[in-house]
Amino acid sequence: MPRYAYVNGRYCHHGEATVHIEDRGYQLGDGVYEVVTILNGKMVDEAGHLDRLERSLSELRIDMPVKRDVIRMICREMVKRNGIDNGLVYMQVTRGVAPRNHAFPTKPVKPALVMTTKRMDFARMAKFTDGVEIITVPEQRWARRDIKTIGLLPNCLGKQAAVEAGAYEAWQVDDDGYVTEGTSSNAWILTKEKKLVTRQLNQDILHGITRKTVLELAVENGIEVEERAFTLQEAYEALEAYATSATSFVTPIVKIDDHVLGNGKPGSFGLKLLAAYQEYAGGKGAS
Ligand code: PMP
Repeated sequence: MPRYAYVNGRYCHHGEATVHIEDRGYQLGDGVYEVVTILNGKMVDEAGHLDRLERSLSELRIDMPVKRDVIRMICREMVKRNGIDNGLVYMQVTRGVAPRNHAFPTKPVKPALVMTTKRMDFARMAKFTDGVEIITVPEQRWARRDIKTIGLLPNCLGKQAAVEAGAYEAWQVDDDGYVTEGTSSNAWILTKEKKLVTRQLNQDILHGITRKTVLELAVENGIEVEERAFTLQEAYEALEAYATSATSFVTPIVKIDDHVLGNGKPGSFGLKLLAAYQEYAGGKGAS
């Protein structure tokens, strides 16, 4: 079955899909992206992801490339053409093609929209049952981490450090010793007092769509939640910890640097949240 990509109005064979060398995304990282999970052929938390796409674009003064309903339609067409039951849709919008210059193009250009899909097997993921180990790295990103920019170099360096350490993810730690988030996920701990803690929303972290859903599910499940920054030391001493993202759901963390959490196995709160999230994603969160 051929694999399709969507590029600026056309569905083309993935291997032949190209963009212009003066696309500002390619040359300057001038663009944003979204990743939406596909579960049983349906999109999970679609409205939240499209809201965040619109917000990221407006913060950078890039127009929506097409109307929101058209994006929704292209996503569905991509899922259909690529026969994706479970996986993700990746969408990227850049400011467009213009002669290289740091300042915005003086003549308006059309923003560029690209979409790809990826197949994933969420049912058979060892990370959910065994948990994962993570490392920590210094926070070295820019000051607008709430914008989902394609400029991901510090995130790539952090994730590569994790891979080289045999770990799943790297949590970034700011100059004051507080955890911001993972390189591609939000960071959570369950304190000794059984409070679920994740950093509050401001420009320091990405406003994770999964984070929002998991907070709501935690409250529904009677878990006490606190949105505040936590230190690395608190994380080392936590009962449990998790990473959340669209494609990693609620991934239990069993070791942070050299500190094993609990008995080194996923804890009961994390497993409860994961189950609640899976039910939501396969049910009322899907469209
Ligand atoms: N933080 C960062 C830096 C990310 O890249 C991601 C994944 N896109 C997240 C958090 C989680 O966001 P979401 O739940 O919307 O996937």
